Amino acid sequence: MIPFLDLKAPHVELREEIAEAIERVVSSGWYIMGPELDAFEAEYAAYCEAAHCVGLANGLDALHLALLAMDVGPGDEVIVPSNTYIATWLAVSQCGATPVPVEPLEATYNLDPALIEAAITPRTKVILPVHLYGQPADMDSVLAIARKHGLRVLEDGAQAHGARYKGRRIGAHGDVVAWSFYPGKNLGALGDGGAITTADPDIADRIRVLRNYGSRVKYVNEVQGYNSRLDPIHAAVLRVKLKHLDAWNARRSALARQYLDGLKDSRLILPQVPKWAEPAWHLFVVRHPQRDALQQRLADTGVGSLIHYPIPPHKQDAYAATNFADEAFPLATRMADEVLSLPIGPHQTTEQAEAVIAAIRGAVEPA
Ligand SMILES: *Cc1c(COP(=O)(O)O)cnc(C)c1O
Repeated sequence: MIPFLDLKAPHVELREEIAEAIERVVSSGWYIMGPELDAFEAEYAAYCEAAHCVGLANGLDALHLALLAMDVGPGDEVIVPSNTYIATWLAVSQCGATPVPVEPLEATYNLDPALIEAAITPRTKVILPVHLYGQPADMDSVLAIARKHGLRVLEDGAQAHGARYKGRRIGAHGDVVAWSFYPGKNLGALGDGGAITTADPDIADRIRVLRNYGSRVKYVNEVQGYNSRLDPIHAAVLRVKLKHLDAWNARRSALARQYLDGLKDSRLILPQVPKWAEPAWHLFVVRHPQRDALQQRLADTGVGSLIHYPIPPHKQDAYAATNFADEAFPLATRMADEVLSLPIGPHQTTEQAEAVIAAIRGAVEPA
């Protein structure tokens, strides 16, 4: 049996260090904010080549509070990918603003810069690219359009911890980056967690206040804020895991190369990596027109796989009231029918990847 992802393995590898970190928090008597969170924020900001990091309760809140910090509200529009996880859209809707979907490039699954300008209206405030599957979006093109139209840029980095765009880490190319530390992400907590990174001290400051009841000084509330703080116990565990992130991402990268090589003349559509991109390989996503049959045959041979994502946001009941036309966003719709995520993770072995390749060859090629 080859699991899609072994969530326990990183904690087995680091059992003692993680136990020490947890014990440090337990015996400190400090369970909300404080020095452990400050230390993680400084270390994660440095890792992301960003000036500021603010720890938050989860990735959805990170997107939501980042939009609020850029004054996104009712009547505003935010450009989002048509093929993202629904959290990207929900954060916009939570501000009372409207998500305006733009289709991706078929080769990279990321926002197609050539389609962005047609979606801009006088109400547009922010462009929100997602570094989907851990592949950096084409930031220079997005930033050039944003500059030309006076828009802000929020990046959804939830799948891209450690990825690089043109040699520089994802972390502060746009105005702000939203992160998730959901357990299955490349950097995952032992529960929910999130953060923003930014070069902009004002955005960082506004999000710090928003996450803590709108308060800077206890019992003095400047704005109607939220309760969305990254717990010190998670911060302590994330500090341990952050030290291993580059090695873990290198392992993902080696597995991706193995898949790209082992499947290169198969009938699958494989990920394409632009010259300027160093992906974090959060997911290794292939496409096949008979995806469901392929997934079933892999399952029959004990190979786990998942679909990211089976229903695009515009077809979800959650957005039924928006009344998108049936034929709207054909690329997102087709991708939802064809994509399949193969097992990949920092503790997967070369032999396991070899077995996945053999299982796929057996499934898609005539015997
Ligand atoms: C995981 C994820 C989120 C949401 O993060 P949570 O921490 O689960 O709230 C947002 N966007 C993308 C692209 C994600 O993969």
